[in-house]
Amino acid sequence: METAEAEAAAGATVLRGGAFKPRTSPYDFQGHGEDGLKMLAEARDRFGLAIVTEVVDPHDVELVSRYADLLQIGARNMQNYVLLREVGRGQTPVMVKRGGMYPTIENWLLAAEYVLQGGNRQVILCERGLPATGDSALRRNLLDLTAVPIARELTHLPIMVDPSHGTGRQSLVSIMSKGAVAVGADGLIIEVHPHPDQAWSDGAQSLRPEVFSKLMKELPTMVSAAGRTI
Ligand code: PEP
Ligand code: MN
Repeated sequence: METAEAEAAAGATVLRGGAFKPRTSPYDFQGHGEDGLKMLAEARDRFGLAIVTEVVDPHDVELVSRYADLLQIGARNMQNYVLLREVGRGQTPVMVKRGGMYPTIENWLLAAEYVLQGGNRQVILCERGLPATGDSALRRNLLDLTAVPIARELTHLPIMVDPSHGTGRQSLVSIMSKGAVAVGADGLIIEVHPHPDQAWSDGAQSLRPEVFSKLMKELPTMVSAAGRTI
């Protein structure tokens, strides 16, 4: 709630939180499940933010869609065709993060195509970095900003960038957010936490609210430099 309040005050329009989390280790925090969805819905009601949250299991699509304004297909599931078909059958907008075993731009667009083919026309693409090449202490992933203008040439779908997962480091998030806007991203997903050192997930890449707020004030200059309007 603290994060949602701060994000809304800084000008964010959508709140992302994982109620069902795909974690690399089965011993890590897996999310609060439906209770987490209820918390997100409460934040939506209190602070007027839309909600984006991940669905990991085809059987949960109906449940998660009852709460979410936008369904996230996480990077690990970009090539989970059963899940893509299931969200494609619904009406809730879907964001497809780039990833999977073969995270090419072509495969990312084809993943989106699975959703579109099912009849769901509201699809957003999200670049979030590729596995890093040995520099894992310096960056968690290799954020591929060329993917934005390349996808722009190939599709009419909106394209977002997640510089938090894309770099994995607080100190890189603001500068890469600006880079993403400069190359034409339609939106950003930025992880924020009031106490990053106490976060149960991804604290190293989470911005403190005041840093997020500063970034939000700086972004409009980048938007106009890119010849776009908000
Ligand atoms: C997330 O958004 O919390 C997440 C797990 O992202 P990704 O699928 O990009 O790893
Ligand atoms: Mn995360």
